[in-house]
Amino acid sequence: MQSRLQPAPTIVQLIFEQIRAGGDRNFGYLLADRDARQGVLIDPSYSPEAFVQRAVDQGITISHIINTHSHPDHVNGNAVALERTRAQLASHPDAPGTHDVVLADGHELHVGALRLRSLHGPGHCFDHLVIYEPTYKLLITGDLLFVGKVGGTRTEEDARTEWDSLQRLLGAVPDDATVWPGHDYGARPSSTLALERQSNPFLRCANVEAFLQLKREWPAFKAQLGLK
Ligand SMILES: [Zn+2]
Repeated sequence: MQSRLQPAPTIVQLIFEQIRAGGDRNFGYLLADRDARQGVLIDPSYSPEAFVQRAVDQGITISHIINTHSHPDHVNGNAVALERTRAQLASHPDAPGTHDVVLADGHELHVGALRLRSLHGPGHCFDHLVIYEPTYKLLITGDLLFVGKVGGTRTEEDARTEWDSLQRLLGAVPDDATVWPGHDYGARPSSTLALERQSNPFLRCANVEAFLQLKREWPAFKAQLGLK
């Protein structure tokens, strides 16, 4: 029989919404602790008012706007979202422009009882962050990892950097974490790390050379399979 004296685990009333922002099938996120009435918006681009309204409707105060990376399609809603929420902007220290809160690799942002860990994952973009919430095992991957593919890279050097970031991610985050990407590019809008490890051709590469080759062949491969 279990002792009744054991402390009850901290249960957060989670709010987690994947929001279709517009643009190029962009996804942004509302993540909040309903009890604490505190939350964050991640990449509230194209339709920042709709993101803010989701929070307002549920009585949530947005403490931070977090950017996964500085590409325009992820940050174009910042000004409006910041103005409407009076929140602080949080991004990687190398991100251009001003930010109120620096999320360097390994930093943890506390929002109510939620812990948002930042992992630096360059390659697609030099200032790219992945956000991981360990209690609910939510992995917000931005444009580093999509369902069934990975972020585009401009040079071989960037592709090698991306490979390193992906390998590090696979080592740092448990397999049953759910994957929440920055675009709806896959067969489904979210995934798990285990499923991506098994089925994502870029994660199935045995080494960086195979990864680079797949990147080179990808446009032809995509056309062959009729992928968008
Ligand atoms: Zn991007």
